[in-house]
Amino acid sequence: LDENHLVLSLACNDLNSIVRRAHEFHTEMMPQREITLELTGNLSCQCDAALIEQVVLNLLSNAVKYSPVGTEITIRTWQRGESVCCEVFDRGIGIPAEDQPRIFERFFRARNVSSNVGSGLGLALSRTIVELHGGYLAFNSMLGEGTVAGFCLPVTVEEPVGHEQIGTGKQAA
Ligand code: ATP
Ligand code: MG
Repeated sequence: LDENHLVLSLACNDLNSIVRRAHEFHTEMMPQREITLELTGNLSCQCDAALIEQVVLNLLSNAVKYSPVGTEITIRTWQRGESVCCEVFDRGIGIPAEDQPRIFERFFRARNVSSNVGSGLGLALSRTIVELHGGYLAFNSMLGEGTVAGFCLPVTVEEPVGHEQIGTGKQAA
């Protein structure tokens, strides 16, 4: 996927509704995995709901893939200032410190994962989607302890800068 071909279709959404949809979708596919939701408030923001749902699903699928059945997975949301945020917490295998700087590279996978469960694209694509909204995506991980990966989105999206080919669903000023 090429970030230059992603087109944002912006509308006012509640981040919590997006998270609930991703959670429901995931639970239908994998009912054996229990995922705790800790959602706060009404997190209205201007975003592309379908793309942000993909981001949440990517983070959720990582948490599920890289942690043993029966261990805790929690999704949290909150608002801070002019941003709304979401993070997914797991107690899985974690990411080796040496590999952490490369984790957003396309096709890069850490040395401690088995080869058949991914292609190394989810986080790269997710970061691109979040950055197109003017937000950021980050993670914190400890080998053998677990990982928290999350993103913040601005409540109001500015005109994207430096992505001339990218549409926003409205005319540029
Ligand atoms: P896919 O394209 O299917 O998402 P992937 O899961 O391998 O494949 P990414 O989601 O981009 O790709 O993640 C990149 C790498 O980061 C993973 O291969 C894994 O090594 C590491 N990683 C990401 N999330 C976690 C997590 N929650 N716990 C442990 N390792 C993780
Ligand atoms: Mg993934």
